[in-house]
Amino acid sequence: MRDNDLLDDPRQQCAPDALLGLPFDDNDDVIRAAINDASVPALLMSMVHMTGDMGLLDELPRPFMLIPMDLQGGMNEADKQVVRDRAFDVVCDYRDRGCPPPFVPNADQMRLMLDVMSVGQVTEDYVDYVAADLRLSDADQTGPALGSTAQQRSTFPVVVIGCGEAGLLAGIKLKQAGIPFTIIDKQSGVGGTWRANRYPGCRVDIANQYYAYSFEPSDHWTHYYSEQPEILGYLERVMAKYDIAPHVRFSTEVTEAAWDDETSTWRVGIRPSDGAVEQLQARALICAVGQFSNPVIPDIKGTSAFHGPSFHTANWRDDVDLSGKRVAVIGAGASGFQLVPAIADRTEQVDVYQRTPQWMAPNVTYHDAIPDGARWAIRHLPYYGRWLRFISWWPLTDAAEDRVIVDPDWDTDGLSCGEANHAVREMLIAWMRAFTDDEELLAKVIPTYPPMGKRMLQDNGTWLKTLQRDDVELIRDGIAELTADGVRTVDGTHRPADILLWATGFDVNHQLGPIDIRGVDGQALNDAWGQSPYAYLGITVPGFPNFYCMYGPGTNAVNGASIIYNSECQMRYILGCLDMVIANDARSATVHPEVCQDYNRRNQARLKTMVYTYPNVASYYKNAAGMVPSLYGFRIVDYWKWTNRPNPDDYEMRH
Ligand code: NAP
Repeated sequence: MRDNDLLDDPRQQCAPDALLGLPFDDNDDVIRAAINDASVPALLMSMVHMTGDMGLLDELPRPFMLIPMDLQGGMNEADKQVVRDRAFDVVCDYRDRGCPPPFVPNADQMRLMLDVMSVGQVTEDYVDYVAADLRLSDADQTGPALGSTAQQRSTFPVVVIGCGEAGLLAGIKLKQAGIPFTIIDKQSGVGGTWRANRYPGCRVDIANQYYAYSFEPSDHWTHYYSEQPEILGYLERVMAKYDIAPHVRFSTEVTEAAWDDETSTWRVGIRPSDGAVEQLQARALICAVGQFSNPVIPDIKGTSAFHGPSFHTANWRDDVDLSGKRVAVIGAGASGFQLVPAIADRTEQVDVYQRTPQWMAPNVTYHDAIPDGARWAIRHLPYYGRWLRFISWWPLTDAAEDRVIVDPDWDTDGLSCGEANHAVREMLIAWMRAFTDDEELLAKVIPTYPPMGKRMLQDNGTWLKTLQRDDVELIRDGIAELTADGVRTVDGTHRPADILLWATGFDVNHQLGPIDIRGVDGQALNDAWGQSPYAYLGITVPGFPNFYCMYGPGTNAVNGASIIYNSECQMRYILGCLDMVIANDARSATVHPEVCQDYNRRNQARLKTMVYTYPNVASYYKNAAGMVPSLYGFRIVDYWKWTNRPNPDDYEMRH
């Protein structure tokens, strides 16, 4: 079957279901309010689904351009109003007809809709991938076709390390496949990084429509970019809905896992917080610890000399009251950037120690609640929520490729890496200037390296407004030492502090932390990986049979992909691998070393051409050799295709 045949086969098309728009009989006022609050491009597409009238696309104004973080496709007010006026009639008529099953376009119609929506950017290469995400095909929902029998699968126990979004997803998919599993997590509940990171202001930086499981596209979000408690609540609800809790051992650490060749099993050592060490036995091991489970506190002179409370943002202490206190925040990356504005109202003084300034991406809705009407539209208008998701991700992912490629002939003394990248730089500086004309402050916050080289921070102006408060100071002088009651910078200034907050990030290149995983012949994964972890597709590692990573090395797409989306790709592939072993009655499958090496060589070679490895860009992704092993450099559509199912030729199967 050709990739594109998916769309032509009606059996692959989803039956309309509740996720695509719940029937409604609301009055005209509710409908009018929803239309006023809605994303007009998504509304336009939903009108086609409600009517089956493709002619609407010619008749009505179209999106002008899909712009990151803009839900209105760059449309002007007059054009938007024309669509809204027509939408009112269409939606009321749809209601009056009793909300019949929506129109599902055929392949040609789908291409036309995508062409209008993306302003011609979605080329043939992307159609199946986008169609699957829109749920115009079932390609993402059904998972790989399984060759094994249910009986075979029921005798193949799996252990999953970690119950964040990836571990939970693994549990859901394993359960659906009838594979017995146990998830182990050191925390007291589901959530992973969303349970650990509870610092004030913590919120997601990818639109919730995209930062959600594709099969659980909740319409309950109160904000476009939810705060941590809402995301944790979402994950808790998903866990309850799929009844995963009985399969999880919380408050339990995995200490080690070793492959036993004799029995072709993994022996997994676990230590419950309140009990004795135990050993589990499993046919396969899925490591879903993520890249952000090992917080870093840098080695700064005098770290242990400080007398007050001192803790990392990922180990937030609710028992420490910041009210009226002088607080030193070390680090102005993603966490510090969210933390400082959220605490400044209650502290007496916040000193922010910033080593390197960060680029901020303009996002006016970053802190905004989703208006009621827009939530109604997500819930009721057929396919509206799916198109909204498309608008949220497309401009950020593969469509942004030209901005991250290094032009070797481009010369701006390292300030940008190419023409398109330079245009982004200028736009971002203009955005900063909208919030301050204080040149001294601007000199401190405008980065002297190209934008997009590390994850940009979503900004609605709050950061610069906060830095201009009298009780907040941004310090760029390096830290010389910590003292019992403050921080001394290299210029000799000592600033007193009652509380020290480390917003200093994570060790992404040593994601296993202390977990000792040993493969064939007792080889330790931490030794094999050293400073440069690797895995084929970020998932399988030579020498480690029936072992799979989620959010493993080489999977972080810096500028926009949703980790949840990537996890779904990974889990689909992992299920395919498990099925390959089970259906073949094999003991194990291990990726061929040359397949893995070739993939990683190509990934790193590709990354060498991108801004992430640009010499001027310092980031936590880079190891001592200037490589970025945690990152993914190809297009997301490629990852979607490559993780569709494993190629048996890539694996050594042992019987
Ligand atoms: P980060 O972005 O790496 O920021 C760490 C900060 O600590 C940087 O400002 C870094 O400065 C500074 N730092 C490190 N060592 C230092 C030292 N010895 N002296 C002074 N400063 C030092 O870490 P993060 O803020 O925890 O974020 C990590 C990742 O987590 C993000 O990239 C993102 O992927 C994710 N995250 C996402 C969100 C969200 O919005 N959803 C929120 C938080 C985190 P340098 O830049 O000079 O190294």
